[in-house]
Amino acid sequence: MGLVLSGISVSRGVAIGKAHLLQHDFPEVGEYTVPKPLLTEEITRFRLAVKKARQQLKAIRQRIPAHTPADIADFIDAHLLMLGDAALAEVPVAIIKERRCNAEWALKLQRDALVGVFEEMDDPYLRTRQDDVNHVVNRILRNLLYQGGHPKEAEPQLKGRLAIAEDISPAEMLMMHYQGVAAIASQYGGANSHTAILARSLGVPAVVGVPRLLDYIRHGEALVIDGRQGVVLAGPDPAELEYFRRRQREERRHLTALRKIRELPAVSRDGHAVQLLANVEIPEDIPATRRAAAAGIGLYRTEMLFINRDQPPDEEEQYRVYRKIVRAMKGRPVTIRTLDLGADKTPGLAERRPAAANNPAMGLRAIRCCLREPELFCAQIRAILRASALGPVRMMIPMLSTVQELQQVLRLVEEEKQHLRRRRQRFDENLPVGGMIEVPAAAVAAPAFARRLDFLSIGTNDLIQYTLAVDRLDEQVNYLYDPLHPAILKLIQLVIGAGRRAGIPVAMCGEMAGDTRYTRLLLGMGLREFSMYPATLLEVKRIVIDAEIGRLSRTVKRILRAESREEILTLVEKLNHLE
Ligand code: PEP
Ligand code: MG
Repeated sequence: MGLVLSGISVSRGVAIGKAHLLQHDFPEVGEYTVPKPLLTEEITRFRLAVKKARQQLKAIRQRIPAHTPADIADFIDAHLLMLGDAALAEVPVAIIKERRCNAEWALKLQRDALVGVFEEMDDPYLRTRQDDVNHVVNRILRNLLYQGGHPKEAEPQLKGRLAIAEDISPAEMLMMHYQGVAAIASQYGGANSHTAILARSLGVPAVVGVPRLLDYIRHGEALVIDGRQGVVLAGPDPAELEYFRRRQREERRHLTALRKIRELPAVSRDGHAVQLLANVEIPEDIPATRRAAAAGIGLYRTEMLFINRDQPPDEEEQYRVYRKIVRAMKGRPVTIRTLDLGADKTPGLAERRPAAANNPAMGLRAIRCCLREPELFCAQIRAILRASALGPVRMMIPMLSTVQELQQVLRLVEEEKQHLRRRRQRFDENLPVGGMIEVPAAAVAAPAFARRLDFLSIGTNDLIQYTLAVDRLDEQVNYLYDPLHPAILKLIQLVIGAGRRAGIPVAMCGEMAGDTRYTRLLLGMGLREFSMYPATLLEVKRIVIDAEIGRLSRTVKRILRAESREEILTLVEKLNHLE
């Protein structure tokens, strides 16, 4: 039997393959000369990193539960022994002194030498020990690199692999997808982090928040990641492998069955038409929106264009990407959201998860960042405006919290229209401008926003995070992240009501919109536009087609009056089974 590790399920699908420990890749290090008077300091730095590695391993050893298979404890013991061995603890010190080089380089030289020796060996067991050397060396190395900033990781070979990491940023997720990764699992992270959203959108099975994942998984070992059940299975036996292969076949059959309703209109049994739109991260997502017959794009997260690069894309480059999407959607609406950089979406790979102490989610993010950098923002506004000449485009502003911000945005849009008129470039004079309602203040003040905008879209991912004070990235408070919290339902109700009174459409583009557990509730609350990652769209459509919305209202009213989680859960369950 394999070793089962449980975490938070974030993107369904079963993947079977070999584990790829991201931290396993030897980070790129360079050599530099250390001046003679500083050599002692460099040696101390190295010794401290080794000492820290020992403390880390001992701490892991102590936390291993009693029922854990013995080989895992042995694995850690072996690493502890290696740390105490002169080959790793002393030889690098001699190299530092002799070459007058930095500790990282000395460690790399010694690692290369040791791995070389193991590679020469005939004994397959001893050859596998090179993995252990890599593991231990990387631990020391990470400690060294973290002493002075962030580690730079070498590019891994990921095709068909199941990536295992401590934490994965959206930038890394995107890069790994391009490298052909089959699934991901991480020790940290929440179900509504942008990494999780990206994984869902890209159809990459994913599990996050798996406690002590890195202590248990070895690089290259056979692995199963079950994204639906939130399970990572190391070293599956033949019966388990057969079970998961069957699950893969069932999943494929389920999707084939759903495709039959692809062409049907999204209209409820009692005649309410519902717009089912797609969330898109990158232009490559477009075929999936077509497969799901989405009515359009309800959220295009443009920030993915800005990450993993040194320079932001200019107006022309952005225009070409937006044009490609608008053309590919062939007359169906495309909602382009202006940049939402900040929080966990940072431009580069090196800028990993920012320190919690900085409160990045409440900092200079999204529209705040754009208003601070008008040049960057205006280039995007112009690119969106120009794309609107080619098909129905809507511009959507994220993270609005004050009407003043909105007024500033609307002024800038007017100025950029003027700019394009001077350049004699075409655009839709009536381009609809909408706002995301994802800050509680904006939800409470929704009527003021609704009066000034052409549409609203509820961003439940952030609305929940900010209302309940639950960091969407933090697996430790994930249990508090609750779309059914009475406060959240009240805010959603407020926004839908504000839109109705102002006569403008209200959509929802947070993850809640694509979660089939909430479809009937939202329909009953009056929501008629849902935007979600394409893979879930046909499942939501199935529910819409089968629903008689008029019959839901009594139970929905009771849900909106309920105060306890248990009561709400029971009523939602009832709602979902109403005939
Ligand atoms: C949201 O907050 O619900 C949303 C759709 O935006 P993002 O997930 O990109 O923050
Ligand atoms: Mg958001």
